[in-house]
Amino acid sequence: MSDKPLMCPSSPWETPNAKVFGVVAGTVETPEVHYLKETLDATPELAAKLNGENPGEVFRVAAPCGKSSCQHHDGTAHKCTLVSRIVGTVPIMFVGRAPCAIRSTCLWWAQEGAEACKRCPKVITNPRVITERELAMAAQPPEAPHD
Ligand code: SF4
Repeated sequence: MSDKPLMCPSSPWETPNAKVFGVVAGTVETPEVHYLKETLDATPELAAKLNGENPGEVFRVAAPCGKSSCQHHDGTAHKCTLVSRIVGTVPIMFVGRAPCAIRSTCLWWAQEGAEACKRCPKVITNPRVITERELAMAAQPPEAPHD
């Protein structure tokens, strides 16, 4: 295995040394991650291209595993409990492995292998939460033109 630090593929946008490796696509009800051929640095310049959208909701980002500073890290077994739960509960989305630019350093791949990759496209790190007010506004028909 590479001696590079293992990367958590569900990192917050703000994490130091973060790399973008996927883009959230699909619909609000059924989002899915589309993978990039090459990673991009998670920079303010990249975020500025989103016209105000939250980069944490648009991109999947990988960054060095936070180990014991992360709530999902099992300090005893040195494992990511999040990916263990994902493999145990999330239905398979991909029969094979999703094409992925970070596989050689991915912590989830190192820990769970292909079982993680089969479910990874369904993992949305920072899901967009639509408020009831936004839903109500979206349901409003356009105003009739005034004479
Ligand atoms: S789990 Fe698999 S598909 Fe997801 S980031 Fe890791 S290597 Fe890529």
